[in-house]
Amino acid sequence: MNVTRDLFNQVMVPNYNPAAMIPVRGLGSKVWDQSGKEYIDFAGGIAVNALGHCHPALVAALTEQGQKLWHLSNVLTNEPALRLAKKLVDATFADKVYFANSGAEANEAALKLARRYALDVYGEHKSQIIAFKQGFHGRTFFTVTVGGQSTYSDGFGPKPGGIEHVDYNDLASLEALMSDSTCAVMMEPLQGEGGIISPSDDFVRGVRALCDKYHALLIFDEVQAGVGRTGELYAYMGLGVVPDILTTAKALGGGFPIGAMLTTAKIAEHLKVGTHGSTYGGNPLACAVAERVIDIINTPEVLNGVKHKEQLFRQGLEKINQKYQCFKEIRGLGLLLGCALNEKFAGRSRDFLVAAADEQLMCLIAGANVIRFAPSLIIPDEDIAEGLVRFERAVAKVVAG
Ligand SMILES: *Cc1c(COP(=O)(O)O)cnc(C)c1O
Repeated sequence: MNVTRDLFNQVMVPNYNPAAMIPVRGLGSKVWDQSGKEYIDFAGGIAVNALGHCHPALVAALTEQGQKLWHLSNVLTNEPALRLAKKLVDATFADKVYFANSGAEANEAALKLARRYALDVYGEHKSQIIAFKQGFHGRTFFTVTVGGQSTYSDGFGPKPGGIEHVDYNDLASLEALMSDSTCAVMMEPLQGEGGIISPSDDFVRGVRALCDKYHALLIFDEVQAGVGRTGELYAYMGLGVVPDILTTAKALGGGFPIGAMLTTAKIAEHLKVGTHGSTYGGNPLACAVAERVIDIINTPEVLNGVKHKEQLFRQGLEKINQKYQCFKEIRGLGLLLGCALNEKFAGRSRDFLVAAADEQLMCLIAGANVIRFAPSLIIPDEDIAEGLVRFERAVAKVVAG
């Protein structure tokens, strides 16, 4: 069979528009397409391939588990799931874990738990969910409605109710909206899809204080920012604020689909037998891989390495900007970085992405005005240097028109 990009248009639902080249192999922070052309990967499968492609320890975990046991369903438990849950509990504020298969599913569980908890403890009136404009929480109908971009949730009929949005980093607006009817506040501790926006210290502490005041649960969506991405195992650890519920996915499986919701024993109690579930959640293959991911990433070597590599990126990007003057800001944290375009290049992030691909560099965008980088947390320094050389060539081409 002749597998080409044209075949995509023939047989796939047209909700995506992937690049022309089709990767067939990856190793570390490099990827090769069908013709053997090599690319440097600054995209990391959208913050998923946190240990690069085909990390030998993950390949071993997957193949070992693959010879033993693939699937049981939740009628039975399994060793990898229990080991992974124990490691997540030991490493975080949480006492309890619920496994899912994706970020959206972890968030769906978090939102349903928050609603159930509020109903059980306080009564029916406590159902308001507040989230932030430009926030992203997944594509199920509940999570996409909680997300702060109505273009993603419009056009599918009546939406789940009781959901409101305020501006990120605007504590006064949040305060004005909150009351004893507020069930939960959901936020990303670093907005990813929305443009790589960090919360101010005052804002994130203020959100926690307001949630305490009104007995609302604080849900941190760490699907993109978690698992070492910011240089901490979870981003909350660097913010001095502890959420009530945390969701994690993307990097957790290093490329194998898995998601999880973490919470305290007191809150978890309300997800009683039969209230929620997933056929694949806690699948042995996914959990065996994720256990190795956590073992490797939750070490000073890798977490400090993220901070070191962040500096290499920042220095290189600053240098490029001094020459070409196209970014108004280089922002983000750890290895989730964004170059926000200035007025002159407003709305043109995709042009930079396409130019980078032509130079054999994979990167991402976060909206029309931000070029985003979310590489492997252990990308070799030489690959960062070579990738930045390619990125500079791409920037030069865009600037030259
Ligand atoms: C990617 C993402 C999601 C959705 O995760 P899926 O695995 O695509 O369902 C949710 N929240 C945030 C912050 C994300 O970046």
